Amino acid sequence: MTKYVYLFKEGNADMRELLGGKGANLAEMTNIGLPVPQGFTVSTEACTRYYADNLKIGDDILEQINVALAETEKICGKKFGDLESPFLVSVRSGARASMPGMMDTILNLGLTDVAVQGLARQTGNERFAYDSYRRFIQMFSDVVMEIKKSFFEGALDEVKHAKGAKFDTDLTADDLKEVVKKFKAIYLREKGEEFPQDPKVQLMESIKAVFRSWDNPRANYYRRMNDIPGSWGTAVNVQSMVFGNMGDDSGTGVAFTRNPSTGEKKLYGEFLMNAQGEDVVAGIRTPQPISALEATQPEVYNEFVNIAQKLENHYRDMQDMEFTIEHGKLFMLQTRNGKRTAAAALKIAVDLVDEGTLSTDEAVLKVEPKQLDTLLHPNFDPAAIKKATAIAKGLPASPGAATGKIYFTADDAARAGIAVVLVREETTPEDIEGMDLSKGILTARGGMTSHAAVVARGMGRAAVVGCGELHISEEKKTLTVGDKVYHEGDDISLDGSTGNVYGEMLPTVETTVSGDFARLMAWADKARTLKVRTNADTPRDTKQAVSFGAEGIGLCRTEHMFFEADRIAAVREMILADTVEQREVALAKILPMQQGDFEEMYKALEGRPMTIRYLDPPLHEFLPQKSMIDEIAALANELHTSSEKIVEKIDALHEFNPMMGHRGCRLAVTFPEIARMQTRAVIQAAIAVKKEMGYEVVPEIMIPLVCDIKELSFVKKIVVETTEKVFEEQGMKLEYHIGTMIEIPRAAITADEIAKEAEFFSFGTNDLTQMTFGFSRDDAGKFLGSYYENKIFESDPFAKLDQDGVGKLVKMAAKLGRETRPNIKLGICGEHGGDPSTIEFCHNVGLNYVSCSPFRVPIARLAAAHAAIKANKKK
Ligand code: PEP
Ligand code: MG
Repeated sequence: MTKYVYLFKEGNADMRELLGGKGANLAEMTNIGLPVPQGFTVSTEACTRYYADNLKIGDDILEQINVALAETEKICGKKFGDLESPFLVSVRSGARASMPGMMDTILNLGLTDVAVQGLARQTGNERFAYDSYRRFIQMFSDVVMEIKKSFFEGALDEVKHAKGAKFDTDLTADDLKEVVKKFKAIYLREKGEEFPQDPKVQLMESIKAVFRSWDNPRANYYRRMNDIPGSWGTAVNVQSMVFGNMGDDSGTGVAFTRNPSTGEKKLYGEFLMNAQGEDVVAGIRTPQPISALEATQPEVYNEFVNIAQKLENHYRDMQDMEFTIEHGKLFMLQTRNGKRTAAAALKIAVDLVDEGTLSTDEAVLKVEPKQLDTLLHPNFDPAAIKKATAIAKGLPASPGAATGKIYFTADDAARAGIAVVLVREETTPEDIEGMDLSKGILTARGGMTSHAAVVARGMGRAAVVGCGELHISEEKKTLTVGDKVYHEGDDISLDGSTGNVYGEMLPTVETTVSGDFARLMAWADKARTLKVRTNADTPRDTKQAVSFGAEGIGLCRTEHMFFEADRIAAVREMILADTVEQREVALAKILPMQQGDFEEMYKALEGRPMTIRYLDPPLHEFLPQKSMIDEIAALANELHTSSEKIVEKIDALHEFNPMMGHRGCRLAVTFPEIARMQTRAVIQAAIAVKKEMGYEVVPEIMIPLVCDIKELSFVKKIVVETTEKVFEEQGMKLEYHIGTMIEIPRAAITADEIAKEAEFFSFGTNDLTQMTFGFSRDDAGKFLGSYYENKIFESDPFAKLDQDGVGKLVKMAAKLGRETRPNIKLGICGEHGGDPSTIEFCHNVGLNYVSCSPFRVPIARLAAAHAAIKANKKK
């Protein structure tokens, strides 16, 4: 019989897939003798079964839960449902990867109208008992029964108002009894039945709610963003309760072994006395720094410091821990590798190597490639910051510069379609999509471990939280600071590194990378075998990419060089030419410009290779649209022809499906003189730069959109003949290569044939995805949303390579290509070339390089290192 339920003492840290991160670590902490309130974990496989069984928990699983519950009762010496000494538990989700989109916690489960009295008698603390009960009713109603939280908050506020209480802690036991009464009335009103009084029913409903939360829209969105497969499922942890709200010698907190924002090696965290966990995370009361615990409870503090160090040593990584103090006794509720900013990730990884804890390969694996993105994006211009005056200051929760328009709800922010800064009292898991689509997040409440802070750091969004000077009205859509009022759509900037907020748009500057970054990247470069090139068409982008470590250009899209104002006229003249002679006159004007571009690019590359892709767009893209009457008249004037003639040509060039139309090598087949001109430009530029700079330049000429070897042979012949002619004219030869893109399924299928002519393949996975799926790459965004909602797709195949389909073609073409030409060079230059999961695939298929946009070069270098280290581990 499959085992679905594990007592904490039966698991360990290696069982993450089955027990989820939280469950595996609770088990591990139990094993190493730390004070962990005992309980059990219902496995991720039980969650998958729940879905397979049509949202039912199987009888065998129910039976195993009951057995584990009985065992836990024995361990704790209490009985579930006991009316005198009730046994209370918490129920928490816990997937393999930590997922803020999911249900988090239900506390105090097991309380009923009768049990609460028992708890009051047993603890001699009636206030505590009813405080726990009202919290439980609210959490159960909200997260299990989906009754709006605001109903309960409103009722609590009513009682507080009536009693003149400022804080929840000002309410007496009798006040809280009244709150409980009101809460139960809300439950009855909303559900049409009484609040459940059977603890087993409460427990099973909660477990089901955790399973359901795996599939809520927020969790689905988070998974898509982070490449987490829907098939993993979540585990559920049922743990006996300890209480941080038992009085002034009790409390609860969260702490990191190192600073999650900067990486500094210093215990960092917050706690609240006389409180339960959600008070800290929700940011309702402002917590105290962990160091303050030393003064009030020195023994607990010292024990905690020791445990924190023990956990960090044990896991060899920075830990994020939750703890509770019950009547002066410390309990550990959770530990996990802490989420951190990119800067902190680099510092911690490098420090752990210097401290002798990690090898360099292990340190490389500690930094998520995608995370580097935040480091490579702009900060505020220091000169502008000096002059600007901050309107407010909050906590620097997640670094980076954000400027945008103010929006007050996550939905509005998500729909705005412009650069926005999300301004909220505090954020909740429902806000996750709006947060992701914002440049930055600003909240009035909450600490460094509040939802807004944790989630923004994970996403790499700039965030300032707990900015108490702000008065935010979501209803009126206003932000008031002092006597100044800001409205929706007003400008705002925030600096996530200092916590400063500015009531204006401030200019940003690009960052330079050095220090820890450089050291870690050097280790990554040593570990990887895959080369990293860049897609660039201008010297500026090329220099940027080289400064980020690009080892050459994998794709220079030459059509991008034709769009500049001063050359589009000559291109139009070429397109509108009626005869070859006329076209050659126009091409002769373009040649020196194109050659000049290539020379500059070769110089920017300082001897690194460059793959130059021949003209690829549909020709009509260069002409004005028919509605642009003035532009057409001006063009007619320039070319000594009539507007009608130009309109005729525009009509003639119109295509119903330009993506499958007259583009790529098809242009060179129709107009060989274009390929001739481009070859001259490439070879003459290479010779000129070689002469001037003294280093070898080895042109790589790439023919796009090939579907048949004969097409390639045809264009190749033109290239070779022209090159030979240029060599003769220049009295000099150099090495050069001719290859092709594999971006049409037929090319992949006949790659063995094509390799007879091609010295290299570059997989154009944008078009290969388009044509393999039959999805227009320009339009798929309009319907892919429905595909995610209906679970047809988990991710965008244009961003993350579809390894089962498109990847199969890539693998096959690589194998066929190598069969014909064993030393054929293989690369990828579609957008996927910068995606870490695709890069791992490319490493495993044995490609020679990936090519991606300049800002993704460091990400690709790191991802290539991850792939190599992981593959070596498997060997
Ligand atoms: C591709 O198709 O993947 C490619 C890189 O070419 P383009 O995006 O220019 O069509
Ligand atoms: Mg293409």
